[in-house]
Amino acid sequence: SIVVTGATGHLGKHVIAGLLEKVPADQVVAVVRNKEKAADFAARGVRIAVADYNAPETFDSVFSAGDRVLLVSGNEFDKGRVAQHKVVLDAAKAAGVALFAYTSAPGTLTAALADDHRGTEAAVLESGVPYVLLRNGWYNENYTENLAPVLEHGAVVQAAGEGRISTASRADYAAAAVAVLTGEGHENKTYELGGDTAFGFAEYAAVVAQASGKEIAYNAVPAETFKGILTGAGLPAPFAEILAGVDVSIEKGELIVDTGDLSRLTGRPTTPIAESVAAALKG
Ligand code: NDP
Repeated sequence: SIVVTGATGHLGKHVIAGLLEKVPADQVVAVVRNKEKAADFAARGVRIAVADYNAPETFDSVFSAGDRVLLVSGNEFDKGRVAQHKVVLDAAKAAGVALFAYTSAPGTLTAALADDHRGTEAAVLESGVPYVLLRNGWYNENYTENLAPVLEHGAVVQAAGEGRISTASRADYAAAAVAVLTGEGHENKTYELGGDTAFGFAEYAAVVAQASGKEIAYNAVPAETFKGILTGAGLPAPFAEILAGVDVSIEKGELIVDTGDLSRLTGRPTTPIAESVAAALKG
C-alpha cells in the first residue's frame, strides 16, 4: 500500500487526490487524527488509519512490510516535531516498509524553522530505511492565502529586503510526492524542490497590483519591526520569531531553489505565483 500521514491537511489532500488518479483507492491508506475529516476519502474507497504523532501506540498496526510511506511533517511547533516524526519512522522501520518519504525543507535554509527538518532527516538516514527526502521549498499559498492585509493596506510587508524566493503551489509539491510514491528509482534520493522562477517581494507586489487593479507597494522592514507587526496582528510571539527568521533567510537567498527537481519530477512547469494570486483573488 501507499500510506500518507497528514492526509487531511492542505498538502496531504492534494497527495491523496493525486494518488487516486494513479492507483486503485484500496491501495491507498490515509493516516488521520480525525476520522470525520476523512469522510470524503473513505467514500472514495481510501483506507483510513487513525493515528497521532503524539501517541506511539496508535502507529502499531498502521504500516505493513513493503509499504511506501509519505510522512508529512507536522505543524505542532511546541510539541517536539523530531520526536513526533521519529514515532512514525520507528513504526515504519519495524514494519519493514519499502520506501519512507519525508517532506523536509531546502538544504540551504539555516532559519530556526529548518532545525526540526534537519533533525528528522538525520533520524531517517540513521534508521537505514530506504528513504526519499522531499526538501520542499516555500508554498505560493504562504503568501496568496494572506492577501487580505496586503489589499487593505496597499502594501506587501516583509523583512526580506531584495531577497528572492522560488515558491511553487502545494499542488506542485504534492505531485512530486505522488511521482516518488508511484514511480521507481527514487530510493535514497534527496530532491531540492522549488518553483521554476524566483521572485522578490517588489515583484510580488507588482503581481498583486496587476491582478487586483490596486496600487500595492513593497514595504521592506527590519526583522524586529516585522515581528512587532505580526504579534500586533495577533500571532503568538514564538511564531512571529520563526517567520521573521525565515525572511532573514530569504534575504540571504536561502529559499532560492534552482535545481529544477520539482518540474522534472512532476513533468510540468511549476505554478507561477501570478496564477496562485489570481486564484486567491477569485476566492
Ligand atoms: P497543514 O497544517 O494543512 O497540515 C498539517 C497536517 O499534519 C495535518 O493533516 C495535521 O492533521 C497533521 N498533523 C499535525 N500534527 C499531527 C499529529 N500530532 N498527529 C498526526 N497528524 C498531525 O500543513 P500543509 O499541508 O500545508 O503542509 C504540510 C506540512 O509542511 C506542515 O505540517 C509543515 O510541517 C510544512 N509546511 C511547509 C510550508 C512550506 O511553505 N513549505 C508552509 C507551512 C507548513 P489534522 O488534519 O488532523 O490537523
